Amino acid sequence: MTTPPSPHQRPPLMSLDDALVQLLSRAVALKSCETVATFDADGRVLAQDLVSALQVPPDDNSSMDGYALRAADVSGPGQVLPVTQRIAAGHAAEPLEPGTCARIFTGAPMPAGADAVVMQEDTVEVGGNIHGVHIQVVPQPGQWVRRAGEDVLRGAVVLARGARLSPASLGLAASLGLAHLSVVARPRVALFSTGDELVMPGEVLPEAMKPGAIYNSNRFFLRALLRRMGCEVSDLGIVPDKRDATLAALKSAADHHDLILTSGGVSVGEEDHIKPAVQQLGSLNLWQIAMKPGKPFAYGSVRRDAGAGPAAGEHCHFIGLPGNPVSSFVTFLLLVRPFLLRLQGVDAPAPKATTLPAHFTLARADKRREFLRVRRNASGGLDLFANQSSGVLTSAVWADGLVDNPAGTTIAHGDPVSFISFADLLA
Ligand code: AMP
Ligand code: MG
Repeated sequence: MTTPPSPHQRPPLMSLDDALVQLLSRAVALKSCETVATFDADGRVLAQDLVSALQVPPDDNSSMDGYALRAADVSGPGQVLPVTQRIAAGHAAEPLEPGTCARIFTGAPMPAGADAVVMQEDTVEVGGNIHGVHIQVVPQPGQWVRRAGEDVLRGAVVLARGARLSPASLGLAASLGLAHLSVVARPRVALFSTGDELVMPGEVLPEAMKPGAIYNSNRFFLRALLRRMGCEVSDLGIVPDKRDATLAALKSAADHHDLILTSGGVSVGEEDHIKPAVQQLGSLNLWQIAMKPGKPFAYGSVRRDAGAGPAAGEHCHFIGLPGNPVSSFVTFLLLVRPFLLRLQGVDAPAPKATTLPAHFTLARADKRREFLRVRRNASGGLDLFANQSSGVLTSAVWADGLVDNPAGTTIAHGDPVSFISFADLLA
C-alpha cells in the first residue's frame, strides 16, 4: 500500500537554470512600440535597426590644431611653406595649391589635395611679411587626419533591433541625425506587497510600531529595480489580506499590465490570498528553486477579462517573489531581470562572471547553489559579508556583487570563485 503524499511534503527542487529556461520560454516579446525623443531614450530597447543615412565623420578632417599640407611637399625638417588659407571647424576649405599649407583647427575639413596635418607644436611661424611656417618634422601621409566614414559608413546597421540604448548609444544615434527613435513599449508592471506585518515608512513612526510589525522594504527596491529595467510601474501598495480585495486587485491589474509582481506569501504552506486568487483567475506554479537565498518563487498568469475588448482571452504574467528582502532582491536580479529584458525583445546574455580569489572561507557547504554577498577588496580578492541571512538587507548594500557558489561546495581562503558584479546585474 502506498502512503498518500503528505500535504506538507515539499515539492522537488528545481535548478535555477531550469527555472530561467521555463520563465524565458513564457516571455514573448511585447509587440507595441513607440517613438521617443533620443534625449529620453536611455535604457530603452530599439524596435528597429538603426541604419545610417550618412557617413560619420562626413569629410576627412583634422584631429589636431596645426597645418594641413601634402606630406610629399616637405623634403626635410625646417622646410618653409606659405600659409594660403585658414580653416576653422564648421567652415568649408578651398583646394590646397601644391607647395603651400593651410592653417587648420581640430574638426575642420581637410582641404582637397592635403593628405596630412602637422601639429602646431612641430612648427614655427616665419616672421616678416611672408605668411609662412617652418615645418620642423617630416610628416607621414595620413597623419592627424580622421578619415571620412571611419566611425560609421553610410548604410551600416549601427545598432540592431533589440539593442538596449546606453548614454553612448544616444550620442551615436544623434551623430546620425536622429532626433527620435522607435523603441519597444515599456513593460507595464503592477507591483503588490503582501504580508499583514508590513507597515509603510511615513505612516507609522518607529517608536509607534506594534509588536511584530516591520516596514515594507521590498516595495522600495522592487519599484526602483523595475524602473531601472525600463518598466512603467503601477505600485498598488500592500494588498489587504482579504480574498475579495485580492481578487479585485489582480483582476483589474491584469487588464492593463503585462506583469503582476508580488513579494511575500509564496512559501510552502503559507496562509495567504494571493495563491488561491491567482489560481482562480488563471494558473500558478509554485517553484522551489535550488538556490540560496530565494528558494520559493511563483510563476503564473492571470486571465484578462476585458469583455470583448482587444485584450479579452489574453493573459497577464504573474511572478511571486519570496518575502525575505535579500531573497526578493537576488531572485529579481537573476530571474525577473532577464524576463523583463526578454519581454522587451532583448536577448539578454547570462550575467558575466569573472573568477576572483576568495579572501574568506566558507566552511559549511549548502545543498543549494548559493549566491553570497561579497565585495571586491584592494588586493584583488573578495571579502564576504559576515551575515548571509536572507533577511539581512545590509548585506546587499555592503556588497558589490555575488559569488555564484555551486551546491555542496566549501570555499577555502584563496580559492578561485565565480563573481557577478551588481554593476552588471543592475545595468
Ligand atoms: P513570506 O515570504 O511572506 O513568508 O515572508 C518571509 C519573510 O520576509 C518574513 O519575515 C516577512 O516578514 C518578510 N517580508 C515579506 N514581505 C516583506 C516586505 N515587503 N518588506 C520586508 N520584509 C518582508
Ligand atoms: Mg508573508
